[in-house]
Amino acid sequence: PIFQAGEASEAPLQLDGAILSGDLSTVGSCDLLIVGAGLSGAVLAERCSRELGMSSLILDKRDHIGGNCYDYVDEHGIRCSKYGAHLFHTQFERVWDYVLQFSEWIPFDHRVKGLVPDQDGVKKLVPIPPTQESVNTLFGERIQTEEEMQAWYDKERIPPPSGDPKNGEEAALSRVGPRLFEKVFKHYTKKQWDKYPAELDASVLLRLPCRTSTDDRYFPDPWQALPMRGYTRIFENMLLNDPNITIRLNCDFFKLKEAGSLPSHKLLVYTGQIDSYYAALGMPKLEYRSLRFEEEFLQEPEDGFFQEAMVVNHPSPDVSFTRIVEYKHIPNQPTAVKEGKVRGTLIAREYSSAEGEPYYPVPNPANRELYEKYAALAAKEEGVAFVGRLASYKYFNMDQAILNALEMFDNLKETGKLE
Ligand code: UDP
Repeated sequence: PIFQAGEASEAPLQLDGAILSGDLSTVGSCDLLIVGAGLSGAVLAERCSRELGMSSLILDKRDHIGGNCYDYVDEHGIRCSKYGAHLFHTQFERVWDYVLQFSEWIPFDHRVKGLVPDQDGVKKLVPIPPTQESVNTLFGERIQTEEEMQAWYDKERIPPPSGDPKNGEEAALSRVGPRLFEKVFKHYTKKQWDKYPAELDASVLLRLPCRTSTDDRYFPDPWQALPMRGYTRIFENMLLNDPNITIRLNCDFFKLKEAGSLPSHKLLVYTGQIDSYYAALGMPKLEYRSLRFEEEFLQEPEDGFFQEAMVVNHPSPDVSFTRIVEYKHIPNQPTAVKEGKVRGTLIAREYSSAEGEPYYPVPNPANRELYEKYAALAAKEEGVAFVGRLASYKYFNMDQAILNALEMFDNLKETGKLE
């Protein structure tokens, strides 16, 4: 493997001209033709190569590998993410063992603050998901124990009318009650999805833990860490310098397919939007949510930082962004940043939008029903595996995407589809 413990270089490994050119003239046939160089495609290429000695050609229409995990060191020397902050966390030992092969990891418990109006309308910075401190600050309570917090929730919460919560609003009301719902969840959700929680599946709102304790971590998972040299380096370690793996960037799969220029292959691994794959059928499009980042480099904040935490959520309706990320807080910054040698700080205000690169499927009954129609077509497709967040229309976290791809690999192997 390229990765060596203690490796010091921050510089990205050089992608050669052939990779960037999108020129397929030198590419022969391959075992797997993989569309998309994100997590799902990278895992399948890596597993098929290292375990089975199979060859893959990975195509991506972007000019970089890594999909939405792509990060880089900017002109100021600060590591930042092109597609928004990514925090790795998992409860799956298999996934943790797998990712350990491709990077050193720095333990990092992600903690989020929200700027939320208290009962007098004064905005206060409180832990998200809400803790005892959040409730005390926002509602003038003096809760000190888990029992008191439990009692507060019990007083506030509204049980779902029919047992299980049927949508995001019922889910949030049954956990935290109407006051926290209004302050933290309702408007943030509207900004993020352009839908109120009642129009989304319960699962969206249930992503956030609801705690009675003082634990203010964003995720409950046992493994929470950041890759020492960023996520892109993981992809480089998985994919580059492997004679079985060929990558072509700036390559539009659909255009190549139409032109009849795709090399012959045994299996197509498709990780793009499932409705794009079937665009010719003219069925309704699935809904995806995109993000837009407004980056700003601030020369000299007083104490070197713009805000107290890496991520500050803005759940009120009076600002249109959902959160602000400040990259300098992340412990996997290059050494110069950690040693305070980089002056200034980079922030990104995050806005959600319907237009742009797809980031999120929109989980609700109408989209699920439509997705099922696409999934039925996909199930009948010979020689194609649909994998990942966009192709399976599932709101996967990074670890779930990795697990899903590993399990897809197991399944393809067991059913003889890789022979
Ligand atoms: N959410 C919210 N307020 C917050 C944080 C999250 O209402 O301060 C809701 C919102 O609907 C959001 C969902 O919880 O889309 C999941 O949040 P998460 O942070 O997991 O979203 P991601 O990081 O995947 O964008």
